[in-house]
Amino acid sequence: MKAQALVFMGAPGAGKGTQARKVATEFAIPHISTGEILREAVAGGAPLGLAAKEKMDAGMLVPDAIMCKIVEERVSREDCRNGFILDGFPRTLGQARFMDEMLQRQDRMRLLVLNLQVEPVLLMKRLTGRRTCPVCGRIYNMFFNPPANDSVCDLDRARLIERADDKEDAIRHRLAAYDRDTSPLIDYYEDRGVLHNVNGSRDPEAIAKELHGFLRTA
Ligand code: AMP
Repeated sequence: MKAQALVFMGAPGAGKGTQARKVATEFAIPHISTGEILREAVAGGAPLGLAAKEKMDAGMLVPDAIMCKIVEERVSREDCRNGFILDGFPRTLGQARFMDEMLQRQDRMRLLVLNLQVEPVLLMKRLTGRRTCPVCGRIYNMFFNPPANDSVCDLDRARLIERADDKEDAIRHRLAAYDRDTSPLIDYYEDRGVLHNVNGSRDPEAIAKELHGFLRTA
């Protein structure tokens, strides 16, 4: 795979995090999840976290100015020189335009957008069933991929947690924000010829295999 910026797009629950993490390991490039960066800032009590927490818990988007600053800082680091994966960014047209300019400045790094398409009913189950290990970050789903033992991580026995924004009310807001603010990016990237659609309703292993094959020659 050439040095390029890979963007994972898809509604909340589409499996962006799961697939982005696998691709990052396979191709040895950094996985940058803006949601994770924000959650770490919240957990660490950083000023950024304080500004973002309320919006996140309600399932609303954090302002573009904050998000663009975070991404620009992270992507300018040395480990991103040979490419990187963005998971959860851009989420608005403003962020997408900002990223175009940023990539122009970064030696015109090529952009490839992977759009995971998933049926709405399945999205809901994936989100309401999602649990995360606070120690190793492994993601489970109580419907499709439960831990072997009750609510603890198979790897380190830590008690799994449910994200505050995986509660039903917040989920509704997140899906609405996706429809309103993020889905227009599909046309935006399709027009630029950089969009690759992937059927995200399948088993995660099957999706990973297809992505790997596609990216090897991309
Ligand atoms: P995620 O883990 O990607 O689902 O992100 C969790 C939450 O973080 C979102 O619901 C937003 O509140 C916030 N967030 C993450 N990335 C962005 C972004 N690019 N723009 C605005 N808000 C974001």
